[in-house]
Amino acid sequence: MRRYRYRCTICRTTSPTVHRPGDLETEGHAHRHSQHGGHYPDDELAGRIDRRGRWYETLHPLTATHAHLADALSDLHDPKTLGHYWWASAGAALILATAAALVLGILTTALHTL
Ligand SMILES: [Zn+2]
Repeated sequence: MRRYRYRCTICRTTSPTVHRPGDLETEGHAHRHSQHGGHYPDDELAGRIDRRGRWYETLHPLTATHAHLADALSDLHDPKTLGHYWWASAGAALILATAAALVLGILTTALHTL
């Protein structure tokens, strides 16, 4: 038997145990609606998000670096919208690949000179 609970870190309350994901969703929805006006308590994840709505602190460092670069490139074209342009994502990947190749080249050269 599976057990589920809804935890609101804002209120610091935990729901009674339920056994179906649907009941858990109902529990969370009822809590959000009655206590937070329908807003989603975000498990203390309040901070900067990327243009795709992801919290940077939850991303893998490489993914976060890519998101920062893609955000910066996308902001050059339109700073007000959300989402990455395909060319910004590709450009960020190209920048990361170039940086990795450069570091690899430097390390290889340094190891050959020793
Ligand atoms: Zn709450």
